[in-house]
Amino acid sequence: MKRKWIWMVLLLVYTATLIASITIRTDQTQQKQRLDAFTDVSHLMPVKIKKVVQGKEEETLKAVLAEAREKQLPISIAGKQHSMGGHTYYENGIVLDMTEFRRILAFDKQKKTIRVQSGVTWDDIQKYVNPHGLAVKVMQSQNIFTVGGSLSVNAHGRDIRYGSLIDTVRSFRLLKADGEIITVKRDDDLFTAVIGGYGLFGVILDVELSLTEDELYKMETTSLDYREYSEYFQQHVKENQQVRMHLARISTAKEHFLKDMYVTNYTLSSKQDITAHRELKEDQLVMPLKMMLGFSRRFDMGKDLLWNLQKHYFQKQNDQLITRNNVMRSDSAFLEYENETDTDVLQEYFVPVHAFGAYIDDMRELLQHEDLNLMNITIRYVQKNEKADLSYAKQDMFALVLLMNYGFEKDEKAKAERLIRQMTDVTLRHHGSYYLPYMPYQTKEQMKKAYPKVDLFFQKKKQTDPDDRFINYFYERYNTQ
Ligand SMILES: Cc1cc2nc3c(=O)[nH]c(=O)nc-3n(C[C@H](O)[C@H](O)[C@H](O)COP(=O)(O)OP(=O)(O)OC[C@H]3O[C@@H](n4cnc5c(N)ncnc54)[C@H](O)[C@@H]3O)c2cc1C
Repeated sequence: MKRKWIWMVLLLVYTATLIASITIRTDQTQQKQRLDAFTDVSHLMPVKIKKVVQGKEEETLKAVLAEAREKQLPISIAGKQHSMGGHTYYENGIVLDMTEFRRILAFDKQKKTIRVQSGVTWDDIQKYVNPHGLAVKVMQSQNIFTVGGSLSVNAHGRDIRYGSLIDTVRSFRLLKADGEIITVKRDDDLFTAVIGGYGLFGVILDVELSLTEDELYKMETTSLDYREYSEYFQQHVKENQQVRMHLARISTAKEHFLKDMYVTNYTLSSKQDITAHRELKEDQLVMPLKMMLGFSRRFDMGKDLLWNLQKHYFQKQNDQLITRNNVMRSDSAFLEYENETDTDVLQEYFVPVHAFGAYIDDMRELLQHEDLNLMNITIRYVQKNEKADLSYAKQDMFALVLLMNYGFEKDEKAKAERLIRQMTDVTLRHHGSYYLPYMPYQTKEQMKKAYPKVDLFFQKKKQTDPDDRFINYFYERYNTQ
């Protein structure tokens, strides 16, 4: 009997060891595959990197930096990797993964401020401040991104009253390439370079942000002709201080390509009691939306259907009440897409508010005979803001976010690259600019036109990091020094 037990225990130990070794080997293989073809959400530029280090503690970050200096290795910094042009890695380099560096460090309800580590997401902040009746001032339309990644692109979103993210940052701490940690305040030279600095000046460790009151809004969606939009916005949105957030869409369906529009305003509600609406919501309709998007990816009919259903869905919500925190809460899970043959990517163009109608006519002229799979365009407003060295809003702008799909084949990529440059030319002719977190197909000349302070930006980079310790493909593409 005793012998039987011993055999059973031995068999169990053997089986457990076997399973553990297979799991370890599978993990190691997956890890190696990931390092051999490291990429971001665009999946467009896989390269081999040396290693990924999770910076859970400040000491780890300092040690990795010291190792990179000693071995002369490049370092790139990664948040959620939703930038789409190799901004978070570099061939044979180390990637600092900041997503576990995510503690909330301080919160002052009276002063409406919060200090967080840079791997914290907007979702983390919303969950923390919502019970206190507070909300974020400026962030993307989605809440999945890290604060460090958002600062590094100087994000903007649906809010129309608080400017770009840079306006809401009080200070941050930065781990520089030489290992020194400095506090960067609003008047410091590096403040305007690091915010919108694409991880080139060092690791943003923690950030103090100013918050605002959570508010209750009434939703209202109206259809309009694209030629009326500039005037409508000026009169009914910008000049009406009760409108706090705004979003618009223009159709990419064949039937009314770049003509049909609808706008959604979030107006301060006269109802004062926000408590009943306070609970944070998660995205609904993820699966149906994912399916609709899939259909529109492949068929013109799908684009028509998506457009009409989306418009109907928004209009059905007219007069509904929603809190500021809930307006800013989409996780956009329906946008997640992975396929072996093709990919969904974004490009974003900023055009002066008054130029919108003429700009849309020129874009339609360019695109209507081209075979570009344009699935969706959302429009936001960005107030003039020239604080960041790489500021995209030289005047009050509409920001058009284009969601498109194209294949990994060489000719497909070349076609997308050509069209993106042509669309950028149209945008620049209207005194606009383009957003930098996406695939950097634009030329250096286009970059300089859109961002006149680009030389100053890269000079600051050279002064702060003379050995180019922090690099990525954004730097490789645009560096002017
Ligand atoms: C579906 C989708 C929707 C989007 N919507 C919006 C929108 O509404 N508004 C908008 O403005 N943008 C939008 N974007 C762009 C988005 O804001 C940027 O891609 C942003 O950088 C994403 O944050 P992340 O955590 O993924 O950063 P990552 O992509 O990981 O990093 C972006 C940059 O920040 C640097 N970085 C990251 N963390 C640090 C750190 N701690 N210290 C120093 N540098 C760091 C990286 O090196 C990199 O250069 C959208 C993108 C997608 C894919």
